[in-house]
Amino acid sequence: MAAKSFSMEFFPPQTPEGVEKLRIARRQLAQLKPQFFSVTFGAGGSTRERTFGTVLEIQQEGYEAAPHISCVASTRDSIRGMLQRYREAGIKRVVALRGDMPSGMVEAGEFRYANELVAFLRAEFGNAFHVEVAAYPEYHPQAKSSQDDLASFKRKVEAGADSAITQYFYNVDAYFAFIEECQAAGIGVPIVPGIMPIGRFSQLARFSDACGAEIPRWIREKLHGFGDDTASVRSFGLDVVTALCDRLLRGGAPGLHFYTLNQAGLTTTIWQRLGL
Ligand SMILES: Cc1cc2nc3c(=O)[nH]c(=O)nc-3n(C[C@H](O)[C@H](O)[C@H](O)COP(=O)(O)OP(=O)(O)OC[C@H]3O[C@@H](n4cnc5c(N)ncnc54)[C@H](O)[C@@H]3O)c2cc1C
Repeated sequence: MAAKSFSMEFFPPQTPEGVEKLRIARRQLAQLKPQFFSVTFGAGGSTRERTFGTVLEIQQEGYEAAPHISCVASTRDSIRGMLQRYREAGIKRVVALRGDMPSGMVEAGEFRYANELVAFLRAEFGNAFHVEVAAYPEYHPQAKSSQDDLASFKRKVEAGADSAITQYFYNVDAYFAFIEECQAAGIGVPIVPGIMPIGRFSQLARFSDACGAEIPRWIREKLHGFGDDTASVRSFGLDVVTALCDRLLRGGAPGLHFYTLNQAGLTTTIWQRLGL
């Protein structure tokens, strides 16, 4: 059996203080020896230089860094140029996405869906990069149906994706049902669960509403009930997310990808509790 893949995600900070905070968090998280750190990318290229700078800094510190690339509102030339820069810098892994335009902005560009980006990457860069794509155990909110979403995921894999990272979820059964569905559809790539530690309820509720990740009622009610008691939110969240990770790994998940939100604390505690 292949070794499990444990990875962590950051967003590119906007301010010098944010850059410094991320350096400190990264130093702590690096001690856990994840396989790679990925760095998100603002759709339409809004974080292009910040993503590039963060990726390079991680790589120069001696860790594997994987930039996210989203293709919405982009041209082939701009994506090609970015990938060339990454290849020249020695980057070997990318997370290829469609991305979401901020509301009100028009999605004009040369790519419509992530499978087109994956196909472009393979056509232009061969096997220079390990290509990760996104997967949705609770289905993408814009998908016409779960069947359509599975077909879209399959298209990305057939276009050349090597592995996938999921949207976060708290329903463990949704993940395993999705894996079974993928296997039945002949999708054989590793599908690593994305894990969102629970730090602040309001922030989590906002993210979840936007991306279609369900917070089960019993978790939502508990978190809501804690109000401003951050310590209780974090303590309950750690128990819930550690148990989720444990069930995922015992059930055969090929690794875990942590959405760290540039914070080291919760991810480190979950990691240590799991004995990774
Ligand atoms: C691990 C992970 C990392 C992420 N990182 C970022 C990031 O760095 N920056 C960012 O902006 N966003 C990021 N996102 C969010 C992501 O961009 C959004 O979820 C986006 O809405 C979909 O991107 P995708 O690559 O999954 O799109 P796609 O795979 O293109 O799917 C998008 C939607 O279109 C449908 N679809 C796909 N192909 C077709 C077709 N041919 N015809 C009709 N419908 C189709 C799908 O079913 C789905 O509903 C990330 C998500 C995940 C899970």
